[in-house]
Amino acid sequence: MAEFEIDLYEVLEIERSASKDEVRKAYRKAALASHPDKVPEDEREDAEVKFKSVQEAYDILYDDDKRHLYDTHGMGAFNGSGEPGMGPGGPDLDDILAQMFGGMGGMPGMGGMPGGMPGGPRANKPRRSPNEEQKYEVSLEDLYKGKTVKFASTKNIICSLCNGKGGKERAQAKKCSTCDGHGVKQVLRQVGQFLSPSTVVCSTCSGDGQFFSPKDKCKKCKGKKTVEAKKMLEIYVPPGAKEGDKIVLDGEADQAPDQEPGDIVFHLVEEEHPIFRRSGADLTATIEITLAEALAGFSRVVIKHLDGRGVELKHPQKPGQVLSPGQVLKVPGEGMPIKRSDSRGDLYLIVDVKFPDEKWKPSPAVLASLKEILPKPGPAIQADTVDEVEYDPKGNMDEFGSNDQGGSAWEDDDDEGETAQCTAQ
Ligand SMILES: [Zn+2]
Ligand SMILES: [Zn+2]
Repeated sequence: MAEFEIDLYEVLEIERSASKDEVRKAYRKAALASHPDKVPEDEREDAEVKFKSVQEAYDILYDDDKRHLYDTHGMGAFNGSGEPGMGPGGPDLDDILAQMFGGMGGMPGMGGMPGGMPGGPRANKPRRSPNEEQKYEVSLEDLYKGKTVKFASTKNIICSLCNGKGGKERAQAKKCSTCDGHGVKQVLRQVGQFLSPSTVVCSTCSGDGQFFSPKDKCKKCKGKKTVEAKKMLEIYVPPGAKEGDKIVLDGEADQAPDQEPGDIVFHLVEEEHPIFRRSGADLTATIEITLAEALAGFSRVVIKHLDGRGVELKHPQKPGQVLSPGQVLKVPGEGMPIKRSDSRGDLYLIVDVKFPDEKWKPSPAVLASLKEILPKPGPAIQADTVDEVEYDPKGNMDEFGSNDQGGSAWEDDDDEGETAQCTAQ
């Protein structure tokens, strides 16, 4: 069954100012109309619920004290039986007693203990306005070097004309009669067969408990207490910051009256880099060197670092060393900066040896001398028979395994009897 809000006065279809006599008349009319015995079978279930709420509304509104309790505290003051009690989330017992004794015979709507009700405006409003969380994408270069970013932010600030009052200097805010100044009201929600009290923010005063009449509203903020303002903010991304780090701008979130402003919190997101990959404080990248360089050595810049510096390598370190494809050169201290320290992670350079392509057309003499210069193959593989085979020089490993015949060929051979049985059926 859908949940909806019920107001006891609405249940009996009477004004909030209705007299006792009007309450009684409205009750009799509503009870008759909704009596389960008086409606068609298919409406009976609904009628029973309606009848219950009519009964409950009458029990409370016909009794002066209960009606006063309901007017000031809503359904939170009742435990569902129509008797004052402590429902879960109901008002403070002291508060109810103060109402019972202090407010006895008082006019509905005149009592009320500002802020004394749990879930009232004071309890409802957190002491700080909420933090503003947002993602902030940073390039690996900026995370390496650190970065200061200035940007204009639009936020709500307390209105300077009324200092967050919302009204003109001498104007008095009117207490909201809908919620009796509490900012919230208790309503009955229908949950299945039961009516259960529930607290909602008052829509008339938006939870303030009071409001200014149109002519008394502050001219600058139009009664909203805050105005939009542009502010230049600056965030500093320290060198070595990483994905998931938070950068907090203290108290820069929207301002709200009677609240400490929350923070703007940036959650760093590391952009993918075309060359470098990062893990913690370490970096890795692939460098391309030619076969000749791998064999004969070189001394040159192999990569441009994140701060724009060229990283130069001298190879070989010892005469005779060669570089192999996939070899890893670890450069200590050339990784990412480590926050709040002078040290850095390491840089892992993976060697990609670029072999000559078709454009390389060496003469037979050159090849012969290369063969002569370079190491010879190991001992020949011994075999009884030898076949010289054809081959495709551009084989593709993606095709590896695609010569599978499928399992059914085997099944047919092995389980001939079973296959025959199946076809026979
Ligand atoms: Zn209100
Ligand atoms: Zn204002």
